[in-house]
Amino acid sequence: GIQIRNFTKRFGQTTVIDNMNLDIESGEMIALLGPSGCGKSTTLFAISGIHKIDEGQLLLAGEDVTGKPPQQRNVGVIFQSYALYPHMTVEENIGFPLMIRKEAKADIKRKVQEMTELVGLKGLLGRKPAELSGGQQQRVSLARAMIRRPEVLLLDEPLANLDARLRITMRAEIRRIQQETGITAVLVTHDQVEAMSMCDRIAIMRDGKVLQYDTPEQMYQVPANDYVAGFMGNPP
Ligand code: ATP
Ligand code: MG
Repeated sequence: GIQIRNFTKRFGQTTVIDNMNLDIESGEMIALLGPSGCGKSTTLFAISGIHKIDEGQLLLAGEDVTGKPPQQRNVGVIFQSYALYPHMTVEENIGFPLMIRKEAKADIKRKVQEMTELVGLKGLLGRKPAELSGGQQQRVSLARAMIRRPEVLLLDEPLANLDARLRITMRAEIRRIQQETGITAVLVTHDQVEAMSMCDRIAIMRDGKVLQYDTPEQMYQVPANDYVAGFMGNPP
């Protein structure tokens, strides 16, 4: 799991995350839900190690990784823009994280095969990203993030670029893959329907604070305040 303890982040004089505490159980998928600028991506950057944690503590799978660089954290990340390598094939894109670690070619081939089956990309290994649909590109991105079998998967608005129908398909697909692999996952979104349909628990954020952290049902039925109620679409 993931434990965030007393995490505060400042940019200059501005406090962007204000003493955050969050406990994410192993195998659980949670959402960070909140409006633009509330600190969702900043929280993900802290977990992945892209941002240094100035104040507070971060534990991944029970290990204190607060001061560790991204390479020493067992974390896979997916961004809104899939950031695939345009000149590489699907196979090369997915295998890339293993290639830079100089794993044996045969091992890479086998693992890429396994991942393509998991995410449903069979038959497309020879294509370039530009020859894929948005949903297929998202699957490549998912396979690439998962190929090192990370402890934790971080998803920052992964479905924002997809059309409405595909978004609904991919919600279910990502949830299926998360449950099949038992990976601990954090989804960043400002879409409450997405959070409710994909996640075990939701942390609703505003101005760098977590207002409530609960199951979707609980949050909808017993919101901590009017803001949460409004955000969950069940205003008083
Ligand atoms: P969105 O939904 O728009 O992606 P978010 O919840 O992910 O929003 P963050 O990117 O975490 O928001 O940003 C939180 C706050 O921190 C914002 O007010 C933003 O302007 C500020 N911020 C983020 N990065 C920096 C930076 N490098 N320097 C200064 N301020 C920053
Ligand atoms: Mg963001």
